[in-house]
Amino acid sequence: MDDETFRAWARRAADWSVDYLAGVGERPVRAQVAPGEIFRQLPDTPPAAGEPMERIFSDLDRVVMPGMTHWQHPRFFAYFPANASPPSLVAEFVTAALAAQCMLWQTSPAATELETRVMDWLRQMIGLPDGFSGVIQDSASGATLAALLTARERALGFTGNAKGLAGGPTLRVYASAQVHSSVDKAVRIAGYGDANLVRIPVTGLLHGMDPDALDATIRADREAGLVPAAIVACLGGTSIGACDPIEAVAAVARRHDVFLHVDAAWAGSAMICPEFRDLMRGAEHADSLVFNPHKWLFTHFDCSAHFVRDPKALTDTLGIRPPFLRTLGQDGFVDYNEWSIPLGRRFRALKLWFVIRSYGVEALRGMIRDHVAWARELAEVIAAEPDFELTTEPILSLFTFRYAPAGAGTDDLDALNARLVERINDDGRTYLTQTRHDGRFVIRFQVGQTTTTREDVMMAWAAVKEIAAGLRAG
Ligand SMILES: *Cc1c(COP(=O)(O)O)cnc(C)c1O
Repeated sequence: MDDETFRAWARRAADWSVDYLAGVGERPVRAQVAPGEIFRQLPDTPPAAGEPMERIFSDLDRVVMPGMTHWQHPRFFAYFPANASPPSLVAEFVTAALAAQCMLWQTSPAATELETRVMDWLRQMIGLPDGFSGVIQDSASGATLAALLTARERALGFTGNAKGLAGGPTLRVYASAQVHSSVDKAVRIAGYGDANLVRIPVTGLLHGMDPDALDATIRADREAGLVPAAIVACLGGTSIGACDPIEAVAAVARRHDVFLHVDAAWAGSAMICPEFRDLMRGAEHADSLVFNPHKWLFTHFDCSAHFVRDPKALTDTLGIRPPFLRTLGQDGFVDYNEWSIPLGRRFRALKLWFVIRSYGVEALRGMIRDHVAWARELAEVIAAEPDFELTTEPILSLFTFRYAPAGAGTDDLDALNARLVERINDDGRTYLTQTRHDGRFVIRFQVGQTTTTREDVMMAWAAVKEIAAGLRAG
């Protein structure tokens, strides 16, 4: 492709992107296709000769777009968001143009040094004290794995990597049942074994782990000759937003000298608002904390902010420096690949730098405050509806509810609500997902999209009510 053709297509892609985002609210939120429908439209074999860009680009609209679920839709209230923003998109475009592989300081000093700087901005933005060093990981799953590997090595006096785990002590990890499945996965990969992920019961309105039960369990394990290695606390669990009492949990961690990792993947972004920081009180005593600007801080996936108190423990665990990766003749730099599972890394700091500078911290706070306020407002509306129940109170911008019309039997309600979620998502005006809470099927509602307005929240609710009424009639 020559430069002028490239320029024309780059412009076309930019125009396409702006038009797409301007009109995304008119599309059904969740893809309305059957399994295999897209696959069947794709040729069985690759083209031997190059095809015109015009044809490729028109197939994007014809073949691909019908199979997209629109994550940047203003009425996307499913899962947790993966929100984004124009400054982040522009930075991603430039990042793609640079196509730099930023594994070492010398493979792009600016990428490393910008990362160090913006991670320190983020640290200040969420109110973590100095003394934490940050690194951008590919995902919260990757950060949690890095943390649990570090905890394992710390518990083994940094001998596990060299000797392997066979014949060593039994290491234990403690968490409530509200933590994300990435914790279960990290426990497997790091070699602890499923049987050593010990579930601590939860109490109270925030569904947080009981610190006394945690303390008693750790003591009993020690007496039984097991080695407590890590506690994973959640700040905003995925199902209903559960928050562990971090201060009390951190006190137990210190008492027993156990590594504490805090998973704040979604809720961490809200900590830029000082009024929500009660939820993270005590996080300054954690060894490690992760949150995802790629969820709720208007920054494209992937961008996971991982803060650690002792980076040396992390690099002693993950850092490997073969001769071909040595940087000769330089001192005093960081090679971030030694902080992460993968060697290769994209230039992910650039989009954060664009987002934070373009909005400024106050505007970012304002958007998150709106999301929380609208979620609370809608939760109150639903609590007052005779045919609906609020099943969990809002934690930040997430709550759950279910349809419970008079006369419907308790057993039928799970099936009725499952049908309701399906109908809502087939309808396309909004997109919601479900979870189980206290043994019941409940519907999650979470506000976090960049372009969502209060009207979108209320329109989505009007659609839910209308569809629910039709469900009973039909
Ligand atoms: C989304 C989520 C994760 C996983 O995030 P990835 O970045 O996709 O790995 C982990 N923990 C919590 C609480 C989450 O909400």
